Amino acid sequence: MKTVVLKFGGTSVGSVDRIKKVAKIILSYRKRKNHVIVASSAMSGVTNDLINKSKQISKNFDKAEYDTLLSSGEQVACSLIAGRLKHLGYNSRSWISWQIPIITDGPHSNSRIYKIDTKKIINFMKSGGIPIITGFQGLNFASRITTLGRGGTDASAIMLAKFFKADECIIYTDVDGVYTADPRTHSKAKKINKISYDEMLEMASLGAKVMQPASVQDAKINSIDIKVQSSFIKKNGTLITDAKKVFSDQIITGISSTKNDSKVTIIGVKDRPGVAASIFKPLSRNFINVDMVVQNISADGKQTDLTFTIKSNDLNKTKKIINKNKNNVFKKLIFDKNVSKVSIIGVGMITTPGVTFRMFQALARKNINIQVISTSEIKISVLIKSTNASKAVKCLHKEFKLDK
Ligand code: ADP
Ligand code: ASP
Ligand code: MG
Repeated sequence: MKTVVLKFGGTSVGSVDRIKKVAKIILSYRKRKNHVIVASSAMSGVTNDLINKSKQISKNFDKAEYDTLLSSGEQVACSLIAGRLKHLGYNSRSWISWQIPIITDGPHSNSRIYKIDTKKIINFMKSGGIPIITGFQGLNFASRITTLGRGGTDASAIMLAKFFKADECIIYTDVDGVYTADPRTHSKAKKINKISYDEMLEMASLGAKVMQPASVQDAKINSIDIKVQSSFIKKNGTLITDAKKVFSDQIITGISSTKNDSKVTIIGVKDRPGVAASIFKPLSRNFINVDMVVQNISADGKQTDLTFTIKSNDLNKTKKIINKNKNNVFKKLIFDKNVSKVSIIGVGMITTPGVTFRMFQALARKNINIQVISTSEIKISVLIKSTNASKAVKCLHKEFKLDK
């Protein structure tokens, strides 16, 4: 008997009607004599609503309570799915992560699953049960509920597949696969049949919301193949797998863009060893992720300007930290929230010369000014004015022949 893990995202369980459809999908696997393990997200909008409520209660809402609050949305969706399966005459029940338990480590709101006790679920499945498990959460060593970061039900599904040694892990979502660009905002985006973990990880980290980045990392480490497909329409989806199993003659596999980056420029910092470290140390201590960094060459050998990007919701904290840091002497701090990072991603660029030039030339032709650049072996990112982001994705999609 095969074991399949099915994950349903927020839109897929977004209404009572959708939940009835999800129950049908679950039963289609069950009727093919599979053991089925389901991980569900909260109904769409619920987690955002809980976040807003916590903000109204306190600007410094307690971290442990925040996770307890946010995890509650998944409980509702799971009991509705299990209730529907029972209504249809099947043996099913909801499992809240602490009832299993699913053990996590790491900080609240950004924990990672490291162990799942399989005993109770295996017994339940042996008795013919279909477990419906709350995604996005677990329990830490202090027996407090933790959450896995936004979109974390993807990680729950992958770790369930790992611990239950599942034959298949299917991410059901509201698009029918991973596309060359966000299909909701770019009409020429094309579905990718197979993509490597590394490319998917870059696409997800650089803004393609379809998979949570940490979950792709978990899948890569544990060699778990992921199928991404639609819960709305029956169509082949995308397989995320090892690079050895992916063949493509494209130079660029996909294009991602972000909406929530901010640019910070510190003007007139001293140009001497240790200055950049003294700026970034307190930021890292406060878990602020610094992304693209550029330091200008100092004209007089005395002073320089330092520019970097952070997530916009870290902006206020970053301002405070830089202004409070007595080791920093500088002339002026400048912030810009209206920036987007647009990235081209593909293993093909390793063996193809001239990709950087083509990207810059295509943007220049559209009069798009590049503010900051960062590269890795399989991606090139540029920071541009956010009002140009969609135009940039469109022209790069065409330039690298993804429109066809
Ligand atoms: P779920 O609620 O099922 O977890 P998400 O909203 O997290 O779904 O992710 C699906 C969304 O990801 C799609 O609706 C789509 O707009 C967005 N997306 C962004 N980039 C891509 C891409 N390259 N391919 C597919 N979807 C993408
Ligand atoms: N409900 C959570 C969120 O909105 C987790 C998830 O959807 O995967 O982020
Ligand atoms: Mg998601």
